[in-house]
Amino acid sequence: MPRMSDQIKNCFMRIESEYEKMTVYTCANCGFTGERNAFNDIRDAYLRFEPGDTYTDAECVTCGAMAFPRWVDIPKAESDAHTLD
Ligand SMILES: [Zn+2]
Repeated sequence: MPRMSDQIKNCFMRIESEYEKMTVYTCANCGFTGERNAFNDIRDAYLRFEPGDTYTDAECVTCGAMAFPRWVDIPKAESDAHTLD
């Protein structure tokens, strides 16, 4: 009888084999969504954050608003077919 932690680990390993974690950024203003390299580095970060604000290092290329990361699980087959073009 395997220990519970082994069972959980095996379950995660199975999920990881079929899904890939991917970080995408979404603009808080216009909703533009893309991978990190589709966004600029944020400018004047020290002027734009108040204590307690969610920090981000990305800025929308379209409107200049801050863009925040989120993590999505995408099936491996789909990510292989996905291109930026
Ligand atoms: Zn934007």
